[in-house]
Amino acid sequence: MNAYDAGRMADLLKNSHMLKMVESPEEADLIILNTCHIREKADEKIFSELGRLKKLTGRHTPNRRTIFAVGGCVGQAQGAELFKRAPFVDMVFGPQNYHHLPNMLDQVLDGKRQLHDIEIPRESKFDVLPSAPTSGYSAAVPVQEGCDRFCTYCVVPFTRGREWSRPVGDILQEVENLTNKGALEIELLGQNVNAYRGCDQAGVEHDLALLIRQVSLVPGVERIRFITSHPADMSDDLVDAFAEVPELNPYMHLPIQSGSDKILAAMERGHSVAEYLSWIDKLRQASPGIALASDFIVGFPGETEDDFQQTLDLLAKVRYDHAYSFVFSPRPGTAAADMKDIVPQDVGEKRLLRLQELINRIQFEQNQANVGRVESVLVEGVAKKGQGMLAGRTAGFRRINFPAPAELIGSLVDVLVTEARPNSLMGKLAGMIHE
Ligand code: SAH
Ligand code: SF4
Repeated sequence: MNAYDAGRMADLLKNSHMLKMVESPEEADLIILNTCHIREKADEKIFSELGRLKKLTGRHTPNRRTIFAVGGCVGQAQGAELFKRAPFVDMVFGPQNYHHLPNMLDQVLDGKRQLHDIEIPRESKFDVLPSAPTSGYSAAVPVQEGCDRFCTYCVVPFTRGREWSRPVGDILQEVENLTNKGALEIELLGQNVNAYRGCDQAGVEHDLALLIRQVSLVPGVERIRFITSHPADMSDDLVDAFAEVPELNPYMHLPIQSGSDKILAAMERGHSVAEYLSWIDKLRQASPGIALASDFIVGFPGETEDDFQQTLDLLAKVRYDHAYSFVFSPRPGTAAADMKDIVPQDVGEKRLLRLQELINRIQFEQNQANVGRVESVLVEGVAKKGQGMLAGRTAGFRRINFPAPAELIGSLVDVLVTEARPNSLMGKLAGMIHE
């Protein structure tokens, strides 16, 4: 979502002030840090980065100065407080206010300093943003923002705001714009995307399953993905979509966070491990071989060695294709920040290492199980390493590199998987080219 927002800020400022992207901060007249507040580490990074960039203020002259802005969730959480630690910053704004950037920039150009804009506005930024986002072959489309779930560890409801769904018509219009510009894959984004509830022009409410069916009908859409979903917002209709909508990729990111019912309850996730596992079974029945991903938090207050062992057991049972994992980070304003029974940092870090070892081993084994299969691959560009190699993603969202001519970039091709690596696959063209 932050990557999408950053792209839209660039689109907006290109239209309003003819600004273009540059390669390094030294070349820039305006520097925007688009920030993440989810864990303390991400948060602290902003201030060390600002410390590094501060030297650029030394080159200010009467006719030229570098303008600094902090956007995103740290901007939202800090507001005017941020100026105390970084007084040279000119503008602070949140994820729901970045459409005000051109106006704020005008004010800074008129000599105003230290502007902040974090009031969640009544109008939607989507009504103001330029209609056609810059696109690649795979393009993100936000359909839902914010979150009402208030998991006890999470700042998202405080920084992205309350749960809100975009109207169906606006989404379909944006998808059409993107496919007209060459996108083949549409990634539907939301902090809690399977809680999507948007209306069409006739006022008929759509859930995510129905929205996916509508998006699949837009000419040019070959692939659809969506992130991130909450287990307590799962529905049988969404499971059925995997079986019935050919464009929907066999990939689902369904975070569970912990394998212990006690910890899930303390996180207020609103479901049990058994309920989660029954959704996994249904998904695998609807879409055999579906790639599954999760997020995990270790060291949540009250997590014992036995609770942690239950997380390892769950992992071994589900056998995820991919997973993100973190040590619990207490966040200001959240319920878990004040919980007792804190797990010492070193215990949390050791658990994380053990968890990641298992995640990586299973991921490698799952990758190995793909060797010998022919996969449909969306070719996204040249590979970072290896001359004459292209890089793409399988429908299960695995990275794959294979030797092929650059003309194939931006098409769907069949690739025979020849080798598995821990984080990616290697392959060779299997002949048939769809387009
Ligand atoms: N909406 C998604 C994820 C949002 S945040 C969901 O509900 O699953 C992305 C991930 O960051 C979370 O899944 C969680 O694993 C992690 N995370 C969020 N807050 C955290 C915290 N305080 N400490 C550690 N990890 C956290
Ligand atoms: Fe945060 Fe996700 Fe829970 Fe919402 S559902 S509060 S975004 S972890």
